Amino acid sequence: MAERRKYKKRYCKYCEAKIDFIDYKDTNSIKHSLSERYKIMPRRLTGNCKRHQEMISNAIKRARQAALVPYTVSRKAIVAYPFDNIVG
Ligand SMILES: [Zn+2]
Repeated sequence: MAERRKYKKRYCKYCEAKIDFIDYKDTNSIKHSLSERYKIMPRRLTGNCKRHQEMISNAIKRARQAALVPYTVSRKAIVAYPFDNIVG
């Protein structure tokens, strides 16, 4: 259950920041909802509300198409801070 404690605070970060629109080019806000393998985090872990989760998943899918975020990462390529490699 150690995995779970990491996401204990269950509130929507995007509601708290009062974000109405999530830009797919803004990888900084998207990465909160991406796992270390660039998978979209499920709502039960992030605590996002349904509205923002849908926005985030749309933004992530768009960012993937625009090659801002990779679709998949091989097991060996996992690094602690994956976004450091991406230069905006
Ligand atoms: Zn929200």
